[in-house]
Amino acid sequence: MKDRKPAETALLIYPPTGIYDRFERCQSPVASESVNIVRPPLDLAYLAAVLERSGIRVLIRDYPAAGKGWKEVEKDIRLFSPDIFLVSATLFTCGCDCRAFAVAKRHNKDTVCVLKGFFPDEGRQALFATGEIDFVLWEEAETALEELVKGTPPQDIPGIAFRERGSVFVTSPNPNPPALDSLPFPARHLLDNGLYRMPDNGRKMGVVLTGKGCFGGCVFCLAPLVNGRRLRLRGHVSLLEELRECVYRHGIRDFWLRADNFTADREWVMRFCTELSGSGLPARWAVNSRADCLDRELGMAMKRAGCFAVGIGAESGSEDTLRMIKKNITKEQVRGAVNICKECGLQAYLFFIIGFPWETRKHISETVDFARQLKGDAVNFSFPVPFRGTPLWGIYESLGLREDNARYDVNNYGLPRGGTAYLSAAELIQAEKAAYRRLFFNPEYILGRLSRIGSPQELLRHIRAAWHLLKISV
Ligand code: SF4
Repeated sequence: MKDRKPAETALLIYPPTGIYDRFERCQSPVASESVNIVRPPLDLAYLAAVLERSGIRVLIRDYPAAGKGWKEVEKDIRLFSPDIFLVSATLFTCGCDCRAFAVAKRHNKDTVCVLKGFFPDEGRQALFATGEIDFVLWEEAETALEELVKGTPPQDIPGIAFRERGSVFVTSPNPNPPALDSLPFPARHLLDNGLYRMPDNGRKMGVVLTGKGCFGGCVFCLAPLVNGRRLRLRGHVSLLEELRECVYRHGIRDFWLRADNFTADREWVMRFCTELSGSGLPARWAVNSRADCLDRELGMAMKRAGCFAVGIGAESGSEDTLRMIKKNITKEQVRGAVNICKECGLQAYLFFIIGFPWETRKHISETVDFARQLKGDAVNFSFPVPFRGTPLWGIYESLGLREDNARYDVNNYGLPRGGTAYLSAAELIQAEKAAYRRLFFNPEYILGRLSRIGSPQELLRHIRAAWHLLKISV
């Protein structure tokens, strides 16, 4: 942005192209998940915070969460007339997300248009085809954006793509990404925090980043590509300070603590729990964990510090599939982790994937049987997506299944376009619906849910949840 006048205003948006978790590693359509959770746009709040640190006036708009459409996008652009217009995109919605840039450039051709999201190498050049996007940020987007507004030449900023005099340039990734604590706290004062609610108690929900990176090598997962395999953790002081700010400034007491694998560093988690317990902060939180990174002592410490749920990537009930996906866990370890959760009074949310390219009906039924045996408090099934750059992409290619399955515009975790070597996409969709019916529409599950209802509000939430489950399973 060196040759332009210094930016004074910025509009950062989630475009009205569906409610997605726009966290680069997940990018899942919320409607296809068994628990309907609309999470706050943490990425935009971080980007806004670095812009505010540079003296720029910022607006954030999450149109899908607010139930607003393209008319409101046009209206906001017209009224606010931003110097910088940033869109957070997913691979699945990117084509539609980019429509927003045409609106911004139509209003003012000098608006700097920035696309933020994870895009595999080959896709980056294509993003500039319409001539409306000036910059694409996919790596450490906050630092990159701060450097851009400071006037650092784009070629000196790692992990971005940009258009200059008709050509597209792509810079190399940063081998030493900055410490997470060097970022300001997310600008939650710019969010409509009331839009984001916990599914179980209806209270405001905050998402707080605790770390990035995962040592795992699961063939389907974007985490190692997006966040690297080296673990980067927040400092405890900064993390507690941010939680304190959420509680006392924004009235948020319920959190999803976001990390690729929250329990990867046991010592770090133990210290966090000790400090959080000692702080007296009324924080209630959920995290994710690999099954092999959880033990009873840790679970108890987490429970004492306010943790109420742990999301576990169980992935499959087939030992064959667990081996093929290189998860490096066994069914026994998953069973053990779920039992630890139960002993510690933590809810276990279990995530499974069905429809890997080698899978038959037998694999899928092993997975559904396993999910039933585990009796998790919530269970989610999704389909694998072969993202370019992941080993799974190569597997689809070697089986000749790539073409259909690599269409991000029609494929997502909730809707496969292609099938496996043995089952069609339609058969996979039916298998997923049948799995949900087996899991949720049986007397044991229904009675268990009913026994937990303690108030009319909870009853209402359960009815809504049951209606959602009905929609995804028939
Ligand atoms: S353990 Fe989880 S975050 Fe890590 S690579 Fe595997 S699926 Fe991804």
